[in-house]
Amino acid sequence: MEKKDSCIFCRIARGEIPCYKVYEDNFVIAFLDVNPASRGHTLVVPKEHCQDFTSCPKALLDHCFEVAQTIAQAQIAQLGATGVNVLTNVGASAGQSVLHFHIHVIPSYREQILGLKGTNLQIEDKEMLLLQDEIKRAI
Ligand code: 5GP
Ligand code: ZN
Repeated sequence: MEKKDSCIFCRIARGEIPCYKVYEDNFVIAFLDVNPASRGHTLVVPKEHCQDFTSCPKALLDHCFEVAQTIAQAQIAQLGATGVNVLTNVGASAGQSVLHFHIHVIPSYREQILGLKGTNLQIEDKEMLLLQDEIKRAI
């Protein structure tokens, strides 16, 4: 069986599983998260299966982020959101539970502050420079 046969987001994109769809075009579908972090929490999902942010073809990735921007604008204009968190998890250690690339577009409201809480991880300057160099060299 191919991945896309059983993948939950492929199945939603094919219309086999219902969702609260907010947007669709030939390449992308966006729908409300079934377990939302806030009112209007939306997932932007390419119709073509790819595992995550790092393996999504660049043109498709650009398009997904354009759609995410439009959705964030809509959440502010229509839901009264006062802010938005845009995030995508890559890998289990980052909290990715569905292995089909998606962007979370999470509106926030005056009374509710989301956002990534800093950990108390202390990293020395030397290590920070090494990390910086390693990432730069990989781009
Ligand atoms: P991840 O944890 O992979 O970054 O995000 C996956 C998200 O997909 C979760 O927030 C989860 O609530 C949502 N999700 C999982 N299964 C379904 C589903 O069948 N329908 C919808 N609408 N959302 C889902
Ligand atoms: Zn899939």
